[in-house]
Amino acid sequence: MKQYDYLIVGCGLFGAVFAHEAQKKGKSVLFIEKRNHIGGNIYCELQEDILVHKYGAHIFHTSNKRVWEYVNQFVEFNNFINAPIANYKGEIYNLPFNMNTFSKMFQISTPQQAQEIIEAQRGEIKGEPQNLEEQAISLVGREVYTKLIKGYTEKQWGRDCKDLPAFIIKRLPVRYTYNNNYFNDRYQGIPVEGYTALVEKLIDGCDVLLNTDFFSDKEKYLAMADTCLYTGMIDAFYDYCYGELGYRSLRFENETLDMQNYQGVAVVNYTEREIPYTRVIEHKHFAFGTQEKTIITKEYPADWVAGMEPYYPINDAKNTELYQKYADLAANETKILFGGRLAQYKYYDMDKCVEAALALCDRVL
Ligand code: FAD
Ligand code: UDP
Repeated sequence: MKQYDYLIVGCGLFGAVFAHEAQKKGKSVLFIEKRNHIGGNIYCELQEDILVHKYGAHIFHTSNKRVWEYVNQFVEFNNFINAPIANYKGEIYNLPFNMNTFSKMFQISTPQQAQEIIEAQRGEIKGEPQNLEEQAISLVGREVYTKLIKGYTEKQWGRDCKDLPAFIIKRLPVRYTYNNNYFNDRYQGIPVEGYTALVEKLIDGCDVLLNTDFFSDKEKYLAMADTCLYTGMIDAFYDYCYGELGYRSLRFENETLDMQNYQGVAVVNYTEREIPYTRVIEHKHFAFGTQEKTIITKEYPADWVAGMEPYYPINDAKNTELYQKYADLAANETKILFGGRLAQYKYYDMDKCVEAALALCDRVL
């Protein structure tokens, strides 16, 4: 059996960056990937001449120049800026929370008017916010919370906003300017050829076994390389010995429509509780497409159960404590490295994932 320097379990972004750097150092790499394609959750493919993000909207954004220059070595990025719309019971608001949102919500026009209204509404929260609901009200007041946050968040996470950690909502900018850019980062865009092209270039020269689950023959695969980089679920690696970590899953429903333009924007969030999906994405708008047809995807949040894709770690106190036990086991491994969203149980965006992979390379290669 061929021997490799590295076995990488999972062919997502984390593993791909590590593989590229390992090969630059003259190391040989074998990937095993349980899905039938490379790229993990950033995989996209052409349908009707439209690049379809198969696992939900992916917009690359970063303030880290090293990361931006790193990914731009491989693929060219377009100048897409994410400016999603919220639909609450048919009322349309701009996101993230900014003067466009506030002027429509409160029928006002100046930052001072918006601040006065929100200041009065946030008065109900005394002291440091203890959960997502309190954090949200203290950021934008009860009215924006009720229409644009509560329903969306409870669908997304499957629990009450009072039982969710505050940090989740701190990801979103709140601005008193008329600026609909969803991100504050310096750099933003989408690869013109798609994310799969980025991953293809990163892993060029590696061997890849698709449709191969590491756990179907763990010992055999481990014996094929000197060191293993594992990017799957960390609790699965240790056979759930301390119990299962919590994840949220998603179901994607795609439709090809015989029209040019369905919703006029790449992402519409449906923020009311009663509509079962959280967002509808229209893929062509990520690339300013003018094709005759269009493809949309409805994103339905779901409880994660064994066999489903674990898209989001649930970083609440209970899971964080449980993860720490697995991380302690992982820290004692000498021939196995752990990295990426699932193995580090972290809500990584792509740029943070590249950053973490490069940091691991700096440390071990
Ligand atoms: P993954 O992409 O999950 O790769 C892990 C791979 O390991 C998978 O291919 C999996 O099949 C494989 N694997 C797991 N277990 C096994 C096993 N036992 N055997 C073999 N293979 C295995 N980030 C942004 O920056 N911008 C965005 O707009 C954005 N939107 C997102 C939207 C959604 C719906 C989701 C879920 C994530 C989004 N992200 C976004 C985050 C982004 O997807 C991640 O940062 C990135 O994909 C993480 O890469 P990874 O390699 O860590 O994990
Ligand atoms: N969120 C919300 N309303 C929205 C969009 C986001 O309440 O219209 C909240 C929700 O709790 C979500 C969090 O903000 O989990 C972070 O949003 P983001 O768009 O960053 O989520 P992701 O891209 O990770 O799904």
